[in-house]
Amino acid sequence: MKFPRFFVMTLSRKVIAVIVLTTLAATLTLIPAVFYTLHQGLQGQRQRHLTGVRHLVERLIEENRRTVKNYAVLFGTDRQIKDNLYYYAELAGEREHPLNAVRHLVDAFGLRHIELGDRTGVVVADAARPERFGEDRSGNPLIGEALAGRVAVGIEPHPDGFLLMAVAPIFHDEGQLIGTISTGIALDNDFAAMIRALSGAEIAIADKNGLVVAASQAGMTGAMQPLSQAGSTRGAGTAGEYLIMTLPFADFRDSPLGQVIIMSKDTLPQILRQANITILAVLGCIALGSILVTVFILRRMLAPIEKLKSGAEKIGCGQFQHRIEVTSLDEIGGLAEVFNRMAVNLQQMREVEEKLKHAERLASIGEFTAATAHELNNPIANIIGLAKVVRKDLPADSRLAEDLDLLVKESGRCGAIVRDLLLYSRAARPRREEVDLNRPLDEAIAALAQRHLAGGDIRIDFSRLPSSVSRISVDPVQIEQVFSNLLLNAAQAISGPGIIEVVITTEPDGFLTVRIADSGGGILPEHLDKVFYPFFTTKKSGEGTGLGLAVSYTIVQAHGGTITAVNRPEGGAVFTVKLPREKEHA
Ligand code: ADP
Repeated sequence: MKFPRFFVMTLSRKVIAVIVLTTLAATLTLIPAVFYTLHQGLQGQRQRHLTGVRHLVERLIEENRRTVKNYAVLFGTDRQIKDNLYYYAELAGEREHPLNAVRHLVDAFGLRHIELGDRTGVVVADAARPERFGEDRSGNPLIGEALAGRVAVGIEPHPDGFLLMAVAPIFHDEGQLIGTISTGIALDNDFAAMIRALSGAEIAIADKNGLVVAASQAGMTGAMQPLSQAGSTRGAGTAGEYLIMTLPFADFRDSPLGQVIIMSKDTLPQILRQANITILAVLGCIALGSILVTVFILRRMLAPIEKLKSGAEKIGCGQFQHRIEVTSLDEIGGLAEVFNRMAVNLQQMREVEEKLKHAERLASIGEFTAATAHELNNPIANIIGLAKVVRKDLPADSRLAEDLDLLVKESGRCGAIVRDLLLYSRAARPRREEVDLNRPLDEAIAALAQRHLAGGDIRIDFSRLPSSVSRISVDPVQIEQVFSNLLLNAAQAISGPGIIEVVITTEPDGFLTVRIADSGGGILPEHLDKVFYPFFTTKKSGEGTGLGLAVSYTIVQAHGGTITAVNRPEGGAVFTVKLPREKEHA
């Protein structure tokens, strides 16, 4: 089944998918985990904060209790207060004097509330609210306590909220009770605002029915109404976007009177929202960064694989000479090396295959050629014999005698070709004997000089080997023929003056090498691998049969040697014949 290219999961797409899925999994796991941890941490922290604020409120109330008590006791012994109250209540003195006395104390000590009463519990002077003059306060439990000669402290309802009040008895110098004095600090908006300033928490003060009577911020009273109902007992809870804790307080007789409500705005949802956004952004950036880095690395990693792929395709198409560049030492580099080794093996196999095919072709041509040459051999011999017989009886200068001479000569050429053909096709087994390799070369050079170089200006340079090292086991007749063929070709390749260099060298592997180089035109590159084929010739008809090199090749091969042809950089061709010195080497 073939997928469209878009759907194919390439390596980079797979890696990107893994990164995206991992990031997604991390996000899905991290967000609830962070949510839970933050929630727990912040919850505990806020709980501690609320508890701290509650302790602060408790301590402030306690401090104020002590303060008002101390003031009440102090003012109860104040000379001016005593005298004014005595003159007013006992001797029917001026009403203004006690009022001025308490106002003076309010100014001096900054107290909110100072109230003076006579020994029956009726208000003589109230510094803040003079209109209360004459009000009967004997029913008030705190006043009652003071009238009984005891100092009492408690919380009272007040128009601004509540009043933390202390009442002390006032005795005349003779020790008789002449009245009471009460001092108070209001639990009002100012008190709530002060705690807010100290703690940062919003504060509301409500009565026992939950009605808010004072609050830390103006205008909050109404808004806090539902909160005050949410936590009517001492404890903690939540209401809307607030976390609340309440601190109930009672009156002098321990009946519930009201409560201080401590509120901390619930910022948790907002913090969590921000945390989630931050996590998403960070993970998103990490994922994006990872993808970019991965794509970059993958590109670099995949480039050699792409080369491997295209190399494999070329080798698959039969271009076995193609090699893949090894650019790294890692697994991919190793793969490229293995690939190259495989290509070398395939190339060698291909060459062996080619050679086998060539050999088979030559073998079949050889059989055919041998049969044909054999059939022609006898008729040619008969023609020559018969022509010679007829020629014998003719006068030497007759025209027919000349024609018969030509007939004998041409038939002789035919005979030579047939012989070459037989030589080539049958590859007559070499009759080996120990010879000095210089000798067949000398003879071939001499024959060439006789045949070809009579009037030419071709020089032959022959560098002989010392005869001590030039002994070799060959068929001297066949080997001389090889050298003759090579020398003749060299001479024919040179037009005009030239030089043929013949060099024999010993090889370390027990071979002797004969190098015949000429200063001719060389062999065309496209002919280099064909020159040893039978009937391959570039010469004019009648000048070459194309069998010389084929025969030479067969002879050298039968001796266990090799013959190769190359062109010299400076021009001309070089034929190298390499022959084993001993038969065993072949
Ligand atoms: P022939 O000489 O009859 O053509 P050979 O088999 O001896 O047949 O040579 C085959 C061909 O090889 C020649 O026709 C020629 O093209 C080429 N050849 C051989 N030797 C040389 C040489 N020394 N320089 C250039 N070409 C050569």
